[in-house]
Amino acid sequence: KTPVPSDIEIAQTQTPKDIDRLSREINLLSDEVDLYGKKKAKVSLKVLDRLKNQQNGKYVVVTGITPTPLGEGKSTTTIGLAQAIGAHLNKNCFACVRQPSQGPTFGIKGGAAGGGYSQVIPMEEFNLHLTGDIHAITAANNLMAAAIEARMFHESTQSDEALYKRLVPAKKGFCKIQVSRLQKLGITQTDPKALTPAEITQFVRLDIDPDTITWQRVLDTNDRFLRCITVGQGPQEKGHTRKTQFDITVASEIMAILALTTSLGDMRERLGKMVVASSKAGVPITADDLGISGALTVLMKDAIRPNLMQTLEGTPVFVHAGPFANIAHGNSSILADKIALKLVGEDGIVVTEAGFGADIGMEKFFNIKCRYSGLVPNAVVLVATVRALKMHGGGPTVTAGVPLPKEYVEENLELVEKGCSNLNKQIENANKFGVPVVVAVNGFASDTKSELELVQKIARENGAFDAIICNLWAEGGKGATDLATAVAAASQKSSEFKFLYDVTLPIEKKIEIIAKEIYGADGIDLSTEAQEQIARYQKQGFNDLPICMAKTHLSLSHKPELKGAPTGFVLPIREARASIGAGFIYPLIGTMSTMPGLPTRPCFYDIDIDPDTEEIVGL
Ligand code: ADP
Repeated sequence: KTPVPSDIEIAQTQTPKDIDRLSREINLLSDEVDLYGKKKAKVSLKVLDRLKNQQNGKYVVVTGITPTPLGEGKSTTTIGLAQAIGAHLNKNCFACVRQPSQGPTFGIKGGAAGGGYSQVIPMEEFNLHLTGDIHAITAANNLMAAAIEARMFHESTQSDEALYKRLVPAKKGFCKIQVSRLQKLGITQTDPKALTPAEITQFVRLDIDPDTITWQRVLDTNDRFLRCITVGQGPQEKGHTRKTQFDITVASEIMAILALTTSLGDMRERLGKMVVASSKAGVPITADDLGISGALTVLMKDAIRPNLMQTLEGTPVFVHAGPFANIAHGNSSILADKIALKLVGEDGIVVTEAGFGADIGMEKFFNIKCRYSGLVPNAVVLVATVRALKMHGGGPTVTAGVPLPKEYVEENLELVEKGCSNLNKQIENANKFGVPVVVAVNGFASDTKSELELVQKIARENGAFDAIICNLWAEGGKGATDLATAVAAASQKSSEFKFLYDVTLPIEKKIEIIAKEIYGADGIDLSTEAQEQIARYQKQGFNDLPICMAKTHLSLSHKPELKGAPTGFVLPIREARASIGAGFIYPLIGTMSTMPGLPTRPCFYDIDIDPDTEEIVGL
């Protein structure tokens, strides 16, 4: 239709097929599928076992040029491409995307189900609670916060003997998780009555140093007033007040673990390894030390299973996990990709999406996600738009709610050409991993033919396997059949995939490699604090982890205002933190907000429901 109706109008005119039918179409067995109503289902990890001898399909990651406020359309391209492969090329295809956080849905960005005629449906369920995975993470995360607080409180008010009596009741003895703690402490006694007083002290006292607690409470709402709070002000806790903060749930380590885990057992292990603080003697305190990792895993047992939904054209989609792309790695789950790769079979294709630009989401996809999954990617789809390239070429800044400056609505080949410096650098970045790159030029109604063809020509001349103009927002899969053909051809090439760095290199060296190779920096400058933190992680045995850079997504450099492909800068590393359970070190470049706020006119103003039809508007 022209003009193209709003996302929600399009989504609501298409009736999704019953998810039960879709699951049969993709050869899932009934005991592998848990229906959550008629339009979504959870898929059991048992599929991996049943199909262990099945060859994987081709593995394609969608990424983009450096984002601008004009929006590039990575999600839209992911869904449109899957529709084109599945419904027009008639190959088995799955799209794997992240579950959006309620923060942006009601805040500034709005939903994230794709757009136009390339969307996941029902988009209301996709954008809202889905099957409750984010709520499960909130619950697990906050149980841990409560456990830390309570443990410090009890340790400070009780003698060693009293603590021991309560922690190890005579009737029960040591529980399984306590036995592991004894082993970790090097105590060989397993008879509770045989521990020496010194061993009892060692066992019962975690002796958490409150100043070292890195565990925060979380909530999936943009609530800026929780960025700094004081807990423990009730009369019973008096004297134990402590300043702390809330983060948004998707910024939590448990969300990163959900996205990186490979099985329930692996998840249990990762949750147990999470470091929440240090003792006063400087020993890292883990979830296992607090005895809570089993309970956390129980809270996460359903969340670990990917959610099955569909595109507007009936292609299967997994919606699973949605970690932040700065302090975490910004990619959907390994498990969804793995199951999808088995289900599509040898001749099929799985299209998965990485957040932000290729310098962040794609780099982390390769160096972190593929390292933990062991999966070998076959092709990269790099999304670019004429409008965003114009901004990279020096076009004016834009203001929300104000009509776009003329540079973005009239032909301007000079700005497009200049801005392709960013596209070329991101193509080069993808090529560094040995994976062929197909550039998807996501066409907007205001683009001219000459502008679109210029981007295509420059991309082809600068290392892209191919570059295709597509129209998937306005036409759905039909507007991306050429893209689908090019992606299928690229993924037939024999893979020369390689990581950018060896994890056993020193932390500082790994950071430097990313800064120089991917961002184009001359080098890095570590603050004294960052140097001390890195030295501590190395001493604690955490050197051999991949790096998850927390950098602005709006520039290849650390300065959001520097567009195009900046050079001649040194990347400052302010701090280095660690997510040991998720399995990465995250250097902070500048300050990162882990709890967004609401603007003056948030998206929620437009969101409403018709009480008679229960139809939702404004998402
Ligand atoms: P990203 O994943 O890169 O953040 P999205 O795919 O979510 O971007 O798209 C951002 C917004 O832009 C969505 O509202 C989508 O409907 C819109 N959009 C994407 N492609 C086009 C296009 N070609 N024409 C018009 N609007 C588009």
